[in-house]
Amino acid sequence: MAQPQLVDQGAVVASVDRLSPTAMLKDQWNMVKELVATDIGVSHSKSWIEPLELLGLDGMMLVLGSPNSFAKDWVENHYLESMEKSWKQINMVIQGVKIIIHEAPLTIANTNSSTISAQVKTQESFDSFEKEEAGTYTGAPLDNRFTFENFVVGKPNELAYAAALRVAESSTPQFNPLFLYGGVGLGKTHLMHAIAWKIRQCHPARKVIYLSAEKFMYQFVRALRYKDMVSFKDQFRAVDVLMIDDVQFISGKDTTQEEFFHTFNALVDKNHQVIVSADKSPSDLENMEERLKSRLGWGLVADIHPTTYELRLGILQAKSAALGVKMPKEVLEFLAFKITSNIRELEGALNRILAHASLVGRSISLDTTQEVLRDLLRSNDQRLTVEEIQRKVAEYFNIKMSDMVSNRRMQNIARPRQIAMYIAKQLTSKSLPEIGRKFGGRDHTTILHAVRKIQELCADDFDFANDVEILKRSLQT
Ligand code: ADP
Ligand code: MG
Repeated sequence: MAQPQLVDQGAVVASVDRLSPTAMLKDQWNMVKELVATDIGVSHSKSWIEPLELLGLDGMMLVLGSPNSFAKDWVENHYLESMEKSWKQINMVIQGVKIIIHEAPLTIANTNSSTISAQVKTQESFDSFEKEEAGTYTGAPLDNRFTFENFVVGKPNELAYAAALRVAESSTPQFNPLFLYGGVGLGKTHLMHAIAWKIRQCHPARKVIYLSAEKFMYQFVRALRYKDMVSFKDQFRAVDVLMIDDVQFISGKDTTQEEFFHTFNALVDKNHQVIVSADKSPSDLENMEERLKSRLGWGLVADIHPTTYELRLGILQAKSAALGVKMPKEVLEFLAFKITSNIRELEGALNRILAHASLVGRSISLDTTQEVLRDLLRSNDQRLTVEEIQRKVAEYFNIKMSDMVSNRRMQNIARPRQIAMYIAKQLTSKSLPEIGRKFGGRDHTTILHAVRKIQELCADDFDFANDVEILKRSLQT
């Protein structure tokens, strides 16, 4: 790392200066569009993403102009996630995407003067975004859904949960810092907000600041630019509890690390609580100063493990209960089984199903779920194959694997075959015709018939339902 200071500031100065998009940002936008097109499909991308105009950066937010409010709403509801994901991949500074209504891009027919006025207008709209003045250093707002009450505890997160609760309830630090780490979307930010809410409730006099490491850096660089370091230091060192989220963001940003290290020490020396989250353990953080890494590991290091099936199911049950909707059991089980990546995606899937059901006015079933989530399911595909299901079912009922595809109609063979068809429909995202093909080229109506038949039998016969349930569970773990 030749000139860390320059690297450090360069990343942020670009976002502080509200210029029209730089050439670099334009290049990045082209890359993002390609990524989004592969994600959502070329035709959707043509209709919805191409018409957007790159306006520039507002702080950490990338701002796009949409020609009208309908297109803006549609894009926000359908493609924002994909765009944000792609932007974050391409440009680390960007935290999110904001869409504003903005007249159509200028065409060649426009005169020079209108080009100028359009630019002025863009500049003005950016100025109105700039609210934070130099001299005030603030935390980020707290999400009121992120409380301890709304946090579902299971094996993977019980240590982190207990540690967070302890920190929130104690009036003096028991372990300092508390270092929470785990993969994306597993609840780190949720727990930090929960701590902040709880402290507000239990110890309202304590001054708590929560912010992302990104925002810490942004404010630090701004303080440097406005020669306002004294006030920056004073404000951060006056807090009782400082929480810095996603500290891995300052890897390789040496001056920010240095400042953070000093702030950190000043607080810990005064016995004020520091809470830090990251995607890796302190010792695994890359491009971090050794002394900072070692300091971060001094208190309690609590990791959040990847979710288990039980935790995912628990979260889905809790969320749907909180929303007051009754979801069919098999839909929740299906989601818990299929969406294994992280909890954010799991929530996203649930919300999409609910939104779809309320828009279309249809009740929620396994079929609609599979249809609505087709793209998501593909990326979460666990590769439970139809063959595996057939093998397991054949084994369970002690029949030959070849009978899964054969035409033999004796009930002791046909019934297990139907069960395998039913489970394939429940646990994979394969369509009926696809499943039919795996069962010796049967028609999709045969599969549909099997699914209905098994559902009927399960409703009527407790022992039968139990067999099916055992088989399903054995395939789900
Ligand atoms: P991270 O910061 O680790 O990337 P977040 O805290 O943002 O993850 O969590 C992602 C989403 O999942 C949030 O909406 C959060 O409320 C939800 N979530 C995570 N863990 C749990 C949990 N144990 N119980 C309920 N919701 C959770
Ligand atoms: Mg987070």
